[in-house]
Amino acid sequence: MTSTSAASTDSPVIEWTDAPAPETTRVEIADRYRLFIDGRWTASRGRKTFETVNPATEAVLARCDEANAADIDAAVAAARKAFPKWARLKPTERAKFLYRIARRLQERARELAILESMDGGKPIRESRDVDLPLVAQHFFHHAGWCDKLRYAFPGAVEPRPIGVCGQVIPWNFPLLMLAWKIAPALACGNTVVLKPAETTPLTALRFAEICDECGLPPGVVNIVTGAGATGKALVEHPGVDKVAFTGSTQVGKAIAAACAGTGKRLTLELGGKSPNIVFADASIDQAIEGIVQGIWFNQGHVCCAGSRLFVEEPVLDEVIAKLDRRLSTLRVGDPLDKNTDIGAINSKGQLDTIRGYLDQGVAEGATRHEPCDCVLPKRGFFCRPTFLTGVQPDHTVAREEIFGPVLAVMSFRTPEEAIRRANDTRYGLAAGVWTDKGSKIFEIAGRLNAGVVWLNTYNRFDATSPFGGVKESGFGREGGLHGLRGYLEL
Ligand code: NAD
Ligand code: MG
Repeated sequence: MTSTSAASTDSPVIEWTDAPAPETTRVEIADRYRLFIDGRWTASRGRKTFETVNPATEAVLARCDEANAADIDAAVAAARKAFPKWARLKPTERAKFLYRIARRLQERARELAILESMDGGKPIRESRDVDLPLVAQHFFHHAGWCDKLRYAFPGAVEPRPIGVCGQVIPWNFPLLMLAWKIAPALACGNTVVLKPAETTPLTALRFAEICDECGLPPGVVNIVTGAGATGKALVEHPGVDKVAFTGSTQVGKAIAAACAGTGKRLTLELGGKSPNIVFADASIDQAIEGIVQGIWFNQGHVCCAGSRLFVEEPVLDEVIAKLDRRLSTLRVGDPLDKNTDIGAINSKGQLDTIRGYLDQGVAEGATRHEPCDCVLPKRGFFCRPTFLTGVQPDHTVAREEIFGPVLAVMSFRTPEEAIRRANDTRYGLAAGVWTDKGSKIFEIAGRLNAGVVWLNTYNRFDATSPFGGVKESGFGREGGLHGLRGYLEL
């Protein structure tokens, strides 16, 4: 609290400020970033670089080195060299490193949130209030596991780490996906080579800085930047013992084929086309918020997005009217403005993909609703939140992952029909159910073919809760006790 008295008046004026002065966060971005291999910043051997842009302005933020096969060799060798000592380190000592990293992530959270929004386009409110807290939580959670692994799996005599992990992550939650991959790997005693997505490499490079600040032994975490070819070289490298991938089903299938017969352990977290089912007895206003959170969170760039909405017929018109009204209040624009609800689409390519699906939806007979009439910024990649009605189950927009702010609205008459249509997809990542009837909740949830089922909520994440899919959404779990299995020999 501060007080000031004005000198020139008869009666002193007291000004009280309860809140501390607003902090200014400095985010420095270098012109060029090298690869983080064996604890050192190393220029790529191929001398190639690529640009990462701010999708909200199209301005180039930095150039990053593109790792080639020789760089991957070096990174894998560094992880191999670091492995025995890291694996044998007393678990309580390993935990100290994870705690230290978690603390440092919290201390630098403001800076990391801004950078995440600049490089990837997500609204600052989300990177600040959702991504960064979850990132730190993931490291805290796994720090706690380090010295409890033998109790975690009572059947196993002595759980052992697997070795060198090659990890490839997407651009939708850059730092959070890094945390989901690196925290359990390190907690279990593995070493890591991680490749962030080519459109969002900057926070992973900051994370490398944090590893260095925390005194993590060289080679335990290596960060290599580049695009698909770099990812391919990493996952196919014979020195990698375990591959963990999050991204498209198409690339996931190619990786599964490449790993087959090599003895490599593999976990895949792939695409989705998740159903969100609203029964007539649900609290409709609450469901509307859940639908919004389900599909328009992070511009719809969410693998488990509730992109297929099934509404029980008697309330279909009400839901559509309320959705229309609610969407008109959403603000699309500058990701760094804390009032922004929908930020920038991650890349020009992704924006083109989304527009293609919208056109196709209309061509196939759907009606396009775009209730939000806010003015879009002149530069950058933006798309208004959109929903489609009159969608049939065989329409492309009802079957393929759009990975953008687009919702396909459909209806159903009976619970049986809802379950059948919800499960009628090649994916099986997540699902949502909205109803006031407790018995219905468990009955329906038990029959939905999905790795995660949310009940009267959507898109809620927690480090203690395992996440992952079935069918073409992949296999293996991340988070919680289940997530440790992917990083241990039991
Ligand atoms: P992608 O699968 O091509 O990229 C994901 C990551 O894999 C990136 O780091 C990329 O560099 C890397 N990669 C690409 N080809 C590779 C290969 N052959 N071997 C190893 N790594 C490789 O995804 P994308 O092209 O960025 O997006 C395309 C579509 O994928 C999206 O429209 C969306 O439907 C889906 N997607 C899903 C998720 C998810 O979280 N499940 C994330 C991103 C994209
Ligand atoms: Mg970028």
